[in-house]
Amino acid sequence: MIYACGRCNYCKGVDFNDRCPEIFTQVWESSTARGRMAIARGILEGKLDYTEELAERIFGCFMCARCQEECKKAAQIDVISITKAMRADFVDRGIKIPEGGEKIVETALSSGNIFADTPQIHNQWTEGLEFTEGSGTLFYPGCLASHRFKEKTNILVRLLQAAGYILDFLGEEQTCCGTPLWVTGKLENAKQWAQDYLEKLQARGVKEIITPCPSCFRAFDEEYPELLGLETFPIIVRHTSAVLEEIVEQKKLKFTVPINKKVTYHDPCELGRYRDIYDPARKIFEALPGVEYVEMARNKENAFCCGGGGAVKTMFEDYSDTVAKERIQEFSSTGADLMTTICPACELNLTQGTYMVDIEARVLDVAELMAVSAGIVDEEILESDYFPED
Ligand code: SF4
Ligand code: SF4
Repeated sequence: MIYACGRCNYCKGVDFNDRCPEIFTQVWESSTARGRMAIARGILEGKLDYTEELAERIFGCFMCARCQEECKKAAQIDVISITKAMRADFVDRGIKIPEGGEKIVETALSSGNIFADTPQIHNQWTEGLEFTEGSGTLFYPGCLASHRFKEKTNILVRLLQAAGYILDFLGEEQTCCGTPLWVTGKLENAKQWAQDYLEKLQARGVKEIITPCPSCFRAFDEEYPELLGLETFPIIVRHTSAVLEEIVEQKKLKFTVPINKKVTYHDPCELGRYRDIYDPARKIFEALPGVEYVEMARNKENAFCCGGGGAVKTMFEDYSDTVAKERIQEFSSTGADLMTTICPACELNLTQGTYMVDIEARVLDVAELMAVSAGIVDEEILESDYFPED
């Protein structure tokens, strides 16, 4: 695949700012998919070697797959797999990776989550909720939804339970899905993590996992089987986008409270380009009264990253912030009242983007709009001056 790159420049685009967030923030030719293919070729031919300086470029990629989408029209190169393999090569050769990457791995391994929180803090979002141990359907929020979005996650579970889903929850046994391990090339740690987690889930009788996080969704559904040499993961894994769509299609709830807002939607990279899941949120908005839907200029397969991908946020926060600001400005130019998405990492980065750009706007999960319209939570959460306690 590396040799298939014809340097057509589709991945970089005519305007450096419109496609790849890496070149948007880091400027060099070596910050593009095209540049990375040239570097990879140099390494294969013994003309270049992995160095700490090169790590800055390879770990500066947001792994958003925008280049890969564009390359479908050219050489169909799997840029993400090549980037992952190059990151793993740094680790195999003992070359120092950017400090933030090392730190997030150490934190996940030592504390079980990426924030080094205790299980008590980890579970504060469950306040007032009851779960059914052994139901077979596990609600797995993952680190970000547990630690940074207690209210959103609580609302999501109330919505799912109101629609009739009988949910189990791991409680103090819940740890990170392991995404930071393979994103930073730590494949040996990742294999062990996946093996241990699968055993834990099977011992509990989990038949299906529902998660709001696209990274956790892909972790169980794609990365674990790959790491463990399995054809498929032995447990059904569903992202909430599919479950929320099912609630609407099967009329499991009545949506009667009007939203009365102009709404736009940010496609998470790991759901859209990685898994071709674009429709659920848009279908859901059609079913909610009072939603005036408007698309951002870059949407679906052309959506610009939120800045939260590829663990860049933990390694090069300035780059991540710059991308979030760009995406929020794009939201702002639509004239929408609400930015929505369906990924805790996007919600975190875009929310921080609203503070940096200094606009009054809430970034909401699609589930929160559904919960308002179903009368499960008050409409006040839609207002730009509403600030959740957590
Ligand atoms: S789009 Fe693909 S083939 Fe074209 S320059 Fe980029 S990586 Fe190479
Ligand atoms: S994955 Fe995204 S950030 Fe990385 S090179 Fe491709 S377009 Fe740029």
